[in-house]
Amino acid sequence: MNKNEAFRNIPKMDAVLNWPETKTLEAEFGRFLVKEALTDAVKQLRNEIQRGNLPEDIRKMLIDSAGNFLIRQLEPSLKRVINGTGIIIHTNLGRAVLAQPVLSHLTEIGSGYNCLEYDLDRGGRGHRDIHAERLMAKFFGVESACVVNNNAAAVLLIINTFAAGREVVVSRGELIEIGGSFRIPEIMKKAGAKLVEVGTTNKTHLRDYENAIGPETGLVLKVHPSNYRISGFTESVDASRLASICAERGVPFAEDMGSGNVYDLNILGIQGEPRVSDSVNSGVNLISFSGDKLFGGVQGGIIIGRKKLLDKIRANHLLRALRVDKLVYAALEQQLILYLTGRVDEIPTWRMLFEPVSELKKRISEFLKSLTKKAVNGCEIVETQAKIGGGTTPEQGIASAALAVSPPGLSLDSLSEHFRSMTPPVIGRIHENRFLLDFRTIPENDLSILKHHVNRIFEL
Ligand SMILES: *Cc1c(COP(=O)(O)O)cnc(C)c1O
Repeated sequence: MNKNEAFRNIPKMDAVLNWPETKTLEAEFGRFLVKEALTDAVKQLRNEIQRGNLPEDIRKMLIDSAGNFLIRQLEPSLKRVINGTGIIIHTNLGRAVLAQPVLSHLTEIGSGYNCLEYDLDRGGRGHRDIHAERLMAKFFGVESACVVNNNAAAVLLIINTFAAGREVVVSRGELIEIGGSFRIPEIMKKAGAKLVEVGTTNKTHLRDYENAIGPETGLVLKVHPSNYRISGFTESVDASRLASICAERGVPFAEDMGSGNVYDLNILGIQGEPRVSDSVNSGVNLISFSGDKLFGGVQGGIIIGRKKLLDKIRANHLLRALRVDKLVYAALEQQLILYLTGRVDEIPTWRMLFEPVSELKKRISEFLKSLTKKAVNGCEIVETQAKIGGGTTPEQGIASAALAVSPPGLSLDSLSEHFRSMTPPVIGRIHENRFLLDFRTIPENDLSILKHHVNRIFEL
């Protein structure tokens, strides 16, 4: 067969669409996509013939090529990955892993109708922003609570509600930028408020605040400098002293806490990460934090505090643009039930944080036993430092253990690339010239697939 003959042998699309193989593809992928795939396959075939590659079985080639096209087209871009970085709240890898009871509740609420905006007592229209409020108030010991899209939205809403066209007093040491361009000064502008900076980068005194609070002040804001630390000659104002000044002057006092920590992390040797309850006890009127950092749940901006202030927030029309879906309420309520009933060990974030290093090492030893001989020879257990992540205590690590994977003759870059291209992809960490898989962030049920992946790396 020469080129011209081959071109003449390309079947007409009408004929291709009537092949039984095409009908089989259509049953799985639908007519629309299959036609697109076959059109692409014919184009590929023409290119091949043009280049002088004459396929033996044109029909098979077209169907196979269309099948591959369809699989590629329908592959979701958001894929599950195995996190071997040892960073527990990894913003690039989707932050908190959800608890099983939360996932079950999401399925229950999402698979039917629900009373999102329906008042079951009165039998008529209700309000969505009452959901999770009672449980949050109980758990955090506050009067009221509300949820928006994320913590950035929460801060925007708080500033806009109390200080649009007015002033917000913030310490210079807290004018932070969090990854993904969340900058306090920018948010302030978008919220329509004027920023009044007090103190200096390293030191802010109570009198700095006292001098700055005036008739134009709509809000005093404290921001937890999540992702960086100023050390050395520093001073910041204690929240409880600032709370009394604000109360005296009749100005609302809000704090952006960032991570939403609920436990004393000192037991892990982690210092300086305040709890939400510390802020509540200090008398801060409004506190906001992320739902998917240390709180360990879904994305959300949680605002808790005084009822009088939350009522004002609820009356702000901006809330309509920042509101959350039924699934967020469902997940949040179940998360709070886990906390309230002491089922913290079912929340993956805390389970990962508290797993003893000895357990991690035991898991790695077991894992090594399941590998091929070739793989075992190129792997080693090493002690590492895991991280909380999500901007929490950036400079402090948690003792951890990792599997160092060193297949002979493979550069670190191509090793990482191979792991990333697997299904599911594996993301590791390169430390001191070694590729590490930190087991603190790899759950038990990822291990059987990881075993195949590691074995395959040594067969390359
Ligand atoms: C993470 C963080 C934010 C942003 O929260 P999102 O939920 O990602 O919008 C804002 N402020 C602080 C202090 C943070 O740590």
